[in-house]
Order: sequence, then C-alpha cells, then structure tokens
Amino acid sequence: MHNKVMLITGASRGIGAATARLAASQGYAVCLNYRQQRSAAEALAAEIVAAGGQAIAVQADVADEAQVLRLFASVEQHFARLDVLVNNAGMLEPQMCLEQMDIARWQRVFATNVFGSFMCAREAVKRMSTAHGGRGGAIVNVSSIAARLGAPGEYIDYAAAKGAIDSLTIGLAKEVAAVGIRVNAVRPGVIDTEIHASGGEPARVARVSQNVPMGRGGRAEEVAAAILWLASEQASYTSGALLDVGGGR
Ligand code: NAP
Repeated sequence: MHNKVMLITGASRGIGAATARLAASQGYAVCLNYRQQRSAAEALAAEIVAAGGQAIAVQADVADEAQVLRLFASVEQHFARLDVLVNNAGMLEPQMCLEQMDIARWQRVFATNVFGSFMCAREAVKRMSTAHGGRGGAIVNVSSIAARLGAPGEYIDYAAAKGAIDSLTIGLAKEVAAVGIRVNAVRPGVIDTEIHASGGEPARVARVSQNVPMGRGGRAEEVAAAILWLASEQASYTSGALLDVGGGR
C-alpha cells in the first residue's frame, strides 16, 4: 500500500514544519512547500528522508496562481496522489491601526492568507473529489483566534483574512461533503514562532501570554497535533469544524 500524501504549505518553519515532522512520523509522505527559505525546507526534507520517511521540498508562492499550479503538479509527479492539504502558509505585516494601512498592504495580506488558501483548496478538491475519480481526502485550514478577537491596534486585516478562512472552511465543508472530502480548520492562539517578529514584536508571545487562561504561549507541536487529528480517520465524522488551539483564550 502506498503511503498517504500530505501537502503542507509554508512548511519551512513554525507550525508547518512541526506538522510535517509529525505527519512523517505517522507514515505520511509529505510535500513541504516554502516561499523563500529553501535551505530550511530542504534540511527538513532531508531529516525526514534520513529517518526513513518520504519528503520533498517545493518552492512556490501560494499567492501566485501559476506557482500554485506548479506546486500541485510537483506533488502529482513525485507521489501520484494527494490525500491531505494543510493550508498553513500565512503572513502578517507590521502592527498598526487600520487608519494607517494602505491598500497595497491589504492586497498582500489577502493574496497570501486568503487567495493562496482558496487556490490550494480548489486544486486539492479537483484531485480528491470522488466526482472526478479521486479517492476523497481532507483539507485542514490554519485560521487563527484573531478571526474572532479582531486584532485591534495590531492587524485587523490579518484577522479579517482569517475570518475569510473560517467562512471558506464552513462553506467548502458543505460543498464537498458528498464527494469524500472533509474540510476543517484549526484556530491557533499565540504560538511561539517567527511570525511575531514579522509583525514587529518578537517578544509578543510573552506579552500576550498574560491574557491566556493557561498562562503561556503554545508550541507549534501542539497545533500540529490538532491538525494531524483533523486530517486523520479518527476525525471521520468531523467536517466544517473550527478547532481553537489557544490555551483557553
Ligand atoms: P512562520 O513561522 O512565520 O512561518 C510561515 C511559513 O509560511 C513559512 O514557511 C513561510 O515560508 C510560509 N509562507 C509565508 N508566505 C508564503 C507564501 N506566500 N507562499 C508560500 N509560503 C509562504 O508562521 P507560523 O506562526 O508557523 O504560522 C503558520 C500559520 O499559522 C499561518 O497561517 C499563521 O497565520 C497561523 N497562525 C499562527 C499563529 C502564531 O501565533 N504563530 C497564531 C494563529 C495562526 P518561508 O520560510 O519560505 O518564508
């Protein structure tokens, strides 16, 4: 039997890299997408292969349609199947109030976080749908609790983009339930990764932890565990769920 294949966007570091490691340890063949950090993605793929797993690293900007098509073609070429898509690639921009933001920023934020996830979901559905001869599958979107908190004074645009991911999850889950595809989302709280530095506050996890009922930030591995459960047969009757992984926040 061939291993199940999982495509993880944004897998060079952070939550995506933790998801790739856990998936490989559970027997998935993994495609690690990245945008810029080639050496990190290739080192992780090599680590997985050295441990006896199957992994490839594929560069593609998920905001660019032609690159998304090339990414899915690479998965087909190397593994000849796709069972799980983890729409994890995401970014945010420096913290500021809405009145200071310009449209170029909103276009960048929505291009990666929203349109990237929409395009990858579309390509995954085309390949997984039993209506097109596929064997079904699972999509796990990585949203954020920012979708319901709103991120005031930091990045309302990012929060709104994650709100769109929640709606994508709810709508697509219903649209493809009858063709063998489950669609769910995790909504991480504050997780210790490099994303906060790109928002201009590398120590954000320590500050925000004071508002987390558990009193700490989360680890990428704790989000990965939720993603792997939603992707698995253990979650066979779960679709359209938004699973908060936020320490009670
Ligand atoms: P991270 O450490 O900054 O890693 C981001 C990953 O996404 C990197 O692998 C990056 O690739 C990739 N990426 C960014 N833009 C891309 C694009 N246009 N095309 C392809 N790949 C792209 O972030 P993280 O914290 O692990 O975040 C992962 C996901 O969790 C994101 O969707 C984020 O919004 C969400 N999230 C994070 C938190 C948190 O507190 N950390 C909370 C809620 C939700 P390169 O390395 O090549 O640049």
